[in-house]
Formats: sequence, structure tokens, C-alpha cells
Amino acid sequence: MFKRLKDWLEARRIKRMGFTAEQWETAIVGWQVMERYQGAERDQLREMTFRFLARKTILSGAEFQFTDAMCLKLATMACVPILHLGLHWHDHWKTIILYEGDFVPNRPYRSDDGVVHPRTPGLSGEAWQRGPVILSWQAICESGPNTRHGKASNVVIHELAHKLDMLRDGANGAPPMHPDMRPGEWHDIFSAAWDRLKNDMQHHRSLPLDDYALTSPAEFFAVCSEAFFESPETMKEKMPKVYGLLCQFYRQQPVAA
Ligand SMILES: [Zn+2]
Repeated sequence: MFKRLKDWLEARRIKRMGFTAEQWETAIVGWQVMERYQGAERDQLREMTFRFLARKTILSGAEFQFTDAMCLKLATMACVPILHLGLHWHDHWKTIILYEGDFVPNRPYRSDDGVVHPRTPGLSGEAWQRGPVILSWQAICESGPNTRHGKASNVVIHELAHKLDMLRDGANGAPPMHPDMRPGEWHDIFSAAWDRLKNDMQHHRSLPLDDYALTSPAEFFAVCSEAFFESPETMKEKMPKVYGLLCQFYRQQPVAA
């Protein structure tokens, strides 16, 4: 009974938002990932996007005047990874703060040389363990298969991958596994890939993804998720085992079999 009431309230909120299929299609023009989602899957993604927006609050950072089209685009990017997982994977948080460009958190920051600076450098995205997701619209616009130093980039997929990761023991690169997955296999394959890329980096060899991945296991999972959706062919070719695990986790195969 309670679920029916919740569904009814959500349907009412979606109706009040008044978004149309045409508006949604216009908002996502140019994001090439959408070419993979056609027919019933595309309809499902649109519905999920509207429900995502009904459940989340998007706030303006630094008085950025964002539009409905921007909300639709970022919500679509948020929903692509969970299309076959379910919207409830993001039910544990509520708020997105959207800035026009990079934002500077007001907290001290220790750089690699050990020096503590009064403020953190500008960020394009951030996800809090208990709290909001913060995003730069400019960074969202730079999403693509080779837009960050020639590597895949999608700040929405990155930050929301952190949120999925945080569902199990904090952000550590291991999100909750499905019953048909083995946590040991996840650990072994991701660790081996990490070691190989670290070695490649030390020998100045080009990496198949942004080297920011090697900051921590949590960043490795988030950057691999960006590559999985934005440049799956490269990931499948260069990191086939990680690609295979992400297919199992996200329940999608972005490269047609
Ligand atoms: Zn990150």
C-alpha cells in the first residue's frame, strides 16, 4: 500500500515537472553514448531520467542559472549506468549542486609535496559519503571518448560511480557485488590491472584511460566506469578482463557482442 502511494506521488511530481519526450531528445543531442540506446531501452532510460529528477533536488552553485535541458542531460548521464540496476541504487542521497565551471571547496588541502594549502584547487566534480554530488556544467559538456588529454571523460558517470562504490564499506573501488559475482575475482582482476597500468606509467607508456585512475582504488573504479561507457571499444581491447567485470556489474554490454 505504502509503495503504491509513493509511486502515485512520484507520478504526480513527474507530471508537474511537465517534461516531454521531445524535450529530452533535444537535451541529449550530441552525447554519442545515446546512440547505443534505442527502442524500448531508450524509452526506459527516458522514464528513469524523469523519475531520477523527481527524486533529486538540483541546487545552483554560485548562482549558476541552469536550465531544464541541463538537468535532463545530467540526469540521463546519471541513469545510463544504472539502467539495468534500478534507480534505488541512488536512493541513499538526494542533492546535486551544479556549478557553471570548476568550484573551489573551502577546506585545507595537502599537495603531493606535503605542503598544506588553505584551500583545495578547483574541482570539476565531487561526491560526498553522506551528502551531495557536486558537478561542473562545463565539465559535463566536455564528456566524450577522448576529451580529457585524449582519454574518456564523463564527470557525472565518475561521481555517481563513487556513490555506487560507497554503498559497500565506503569508497574503496568495490561496489556491492551481485549474487552471481565473486568479490575475490573483482579484487584480483582490478588489482592486476592496477599493477599493469602503474608499471606502464612508470615506463612512460600511454595508458588506455586517464592516469588519474591511479590515484586510489576508488578513483580507479570511477575512471574505469567513465571509460566503460564513453570509450568501451578501447576498454574492451586494452583491459578486457576489467571490461568483462564491468559488464557483469552494470549488466550492460556497451560493445555489441
Ligand atoms: Zn573521483
